Amino acid sequence: MPDLQLLCLSNPLLDIQAVGNEELLQKYGLKANAAILAEEQHMGLYDDLIQNYHAEVIAGGGSNIARGAQYMLPPNSVFFIGCISNDKYGRLLKKSCEKAGVRTEFRIDENVPTGRCGVVITGHNRSLCTSLAAANEYKVEHLKDPDVWKLVQDTKIYYVEGYHLTVCVPAVLALAEEAVTTDKVFIFNFSAPFIPQVYGSPLAIVLEYADYIIGNETEAMAWAESQSQSTKSIAEIARLLIRLPKKNKKRYRIVIITQGEAPTISAVAKSGGEIEITEHPVRKVPSDLIKDTNGAGDAWAGGFCAGLVQGKTLYECIDMGHWLAQLGIQELGAAYPYPRRTF
Ligand code: ADP
Ligand code: MG
Ligand code: MG
Repeated sequence: MPDLQLLCLSNPLLDIQAVGNEELLQKYGLKANAAILAEEQHMGLYDDLIQNYHAEVIAGGGSNIARGAQYMLPPNSVFFIGCISNDKYGRLLKKSCEKAGVRTEFRIDENVPTGRCGVVITGHNRSLCTSLAAANEYKVEHLKDPDVWKLVQDTKIYYVEGYHLTVCVPAVLALAEEAVTTDKVFIFNFSAPFIPQVYGSPLAIVLEYADYIIGNETEAMAWAESQSQSTKSIAEIARLLIRLPKKNKKRYRIVIITQGEAPTISAVAKSGGEIEITEHPVRKVPSDLIKDTNGAGDAWAGGFCAGLVQGKTLYECIDMGHWLAQLGIQELGAAYPYPRRTF
């Protein structure tokens, strides 16, 4: 198998994760269970977590899917693009991706720090506070640099995180156009409910390019609401997504929506306009073994993409996602167990 099978365009972030307490949440005005973008008053959180709460610093953000897919593939199969700074966190992120076998091609922006996500754990709750910083500085010029673009052209499957719509739409569209022109697989993940809620215009354009649209149930419902569709049925929403206009006429669209421990729903367009809806049970994990369901969707997407790279059937790909997700939720943070397990 040739190198570089899967390209991930997503935000390179480090998770700075610690068990906190009510006092820490109050100090920074954080809710116990929420995900927000950091503002000025949160900037002290990261050093506070490290100095006073024994925080672990681990690769997070878009590296979760890249490391996840790579976990199930031969070394150097996955290629991760984004923007970091020339600082210790940037170096750490690059190193942990490389240790996982992921090839990185990062734009370096010296003016801002590498992006960080503060994770404050209190009991079963997680408060996430993300400072995109350098991750927000990705530029299409980096992607179009001849050395990088050559690698892009050499890669078989493109995966774009919805979060990137807040960063650099021209880069997303450059990949999308390349995928249509050369008939490559283009996968798009909604990433979060605020993407359909706030970034509806670029989202509508990018969805036309998507051969695979993936997301979880709350994202699917947020998209339906953004289209003034009152249905709460995931199968119905998947049908609506399938019927959106499609650029690449050579491939039928596939929509896959995960729902935590409930079955994953797939919708497959067939010739003649028929749409096939299937439920796929997840691999159950006893609740006392679940450490952290944060990043479950990223782990699922990683396993799923690894399946596509290997040319597996759709059902096998979905099950590979479930397999990696059940391993991931038994680890703290978006981590995968070592020594490496095999599917
Ligand atoms: P997200 O992290 O985007 O919200 P989901 O919560 O839908 O994604 O989880 C993705 C996948 O992770 C599920 O399809 C399932 O395989 C696995 N998963 C998540 N939560 C659980 C759980 N409580 N028990 C077993 N598997 C789970
Ligand atoms: Mg979920
Ligand atoms: Mg998710």
